[in-house]
Amino acid sequence: MEGLRFDDISLPHDAEALRAEVRAFLRDSLPHDALPDSDFNHGHDAAFSAALGRRGFIGMTWPRRYGGGERTFFERYVVTEELLAAGAPVSAHWIADRQSGPLLLRYGTEAQRERYLPPITRGESYFSIGMSEPDSGSDLASVRTRATKVDGGYFVNGTKVWTTDAHRNHFMIALVRTEAPSENRHAGLSQLIIDLKSVGVRVRPIRNIAGDEDFNEVVFSDCFVSDDQVVGTPGNGWEQVTSELSYERSGPERFLSAFRVLVELVRLVGAEPTEHQAAVIGRLTAHLMTLRQMSISVAGMLQSGASPAVEAALVKALGNDFEKALPEIARLAAPHVGDDHRFRATLAQTLLHMPAFTIRGGTREILRGVIARGLGLR
Ligand SMILES: Cc1cc2nc3c(=O)[nH]c(=O)nc-3n(C[C@H](O)[C@H](O)[C@H](O)COP(=O)(O)OP(=O)(O)OC[C@H]3O[C@@H](n4cnc5c(N)ncnc54)[C@H](O)[C@@H]3O)c2cc1C
Repeated sequence: MEGLRFDDISLPHDAEALRAEVRAFLRDSLPHDALPDSDFNHGHDAAFSAALGRRGFIGMTWPRRYGGGERTFFERYVVTEELLAAGAPVSAHWIADRQSGPLLLRYGTEAQRERYLPPITRGESYFSIGMSEPDSGSDLASVRTRATKVDGGYFVNGTKVWTTDAHRNHFMIALVRTEAPSENRHAGLSQLIIDLKSVGVRVRPIRNIAGDEDFNEVVFSDCFVSDDQVVGTPGNGWEQVTSELSYERSGPERFLSAFRVLVELVRLVGAEPTEHQAAVIGRLTAHLMTLRQMSISVAGMLQSGASPAVEAALVKALGNDFEKALPEIARLAAPHVGDDHRFRATLAQTLLHMPAFTIRGGTREILRGVIARGLGLR
């Protein structure tokens, strides 16, 4: 395992103490008749995000002067895993909390932090990720959306695609080309904060296999973005975007997307499982606990200021394989007697969203490449 580090870290006591508080909050605030869904992409609910913000559950690790809670990454971990396990509707604020805010904290100007972070922590301001383009997904360095320098800012032209929630969110942090391509493919890229309601932005929802409109095509035609909306240093976009991916890839949302299927399987099987059902549930649970331990270890590294990109890629790659295998294993183990409505409905919902698990946030093949490089194999 040379090149990879997973410290043996347990959640500290104060983080565990928070768990009861989060569970009580969820018991009081989630509707009892809804079908919970553990996919972080599920449920864009402004009222729920605002309620989380009031409880101090967004921007938990950020400085207080920006509305944050100055709590630990471990405490944040407990909150995120409880939200996902309960199937809470978290997608509105998720990207802003998980990665846009931390990116602005690390690279943004003081004015950007003061403007954008407090509304995020209140659960009122939502961000989209503007990385992928029609011909640039895995090969992100080949993005062609260009920002041409003009007096006081840039004119942005080009197309982003698969942009989650761009039709519902307020801002996009877009990776754009501010200089012509050169020998160094990673040079000349920058990140801009773009108001999705600006003149020159057209957002067209794309319907997925489940019939939902969650992601979009976003077309920029001479969209003006002022100089003060550049994140970090112009031309440093590649370094910034790769640092963002450590936050994007290691959290519990990378192995819990199908968790509710397991919950419903356990409920359906009841107190007297067959030997096969007990073995299946035991195996899935053991696998889940191993992934969780690895993910907590990455949270520990983030807490100590490290940037564990390779470890995060490994958590995501193994986690996505697990969440994609879980529904099929559960389907085959489920009994065909008794009241199986909730199990079947959760399974059907998950099966339709499952193809995305190993694609979004970097495909399985790309992650394996990152891991191989981290291990010195490429
Ligand atoms: C539900 C969902 C939400 C998304 N949300 C967002 C979002 O909010 N913002 C955003 O920017 N993007 C988003 N994406 C896009 C996602 O990041 C890309 O789809 C993904 O990175 C793959 O890019 P691509 O679709 O262009 O496929 P391609 O890069 O064309 O890849 C096609 C296939 O070829 C394989 N492949 C490509 N290159 C290599 C290689 N070098 N070695 C081995 N195999 C390779 C891939 O693994 C894949 O199987 C979302 C995607 C989904 C499914």
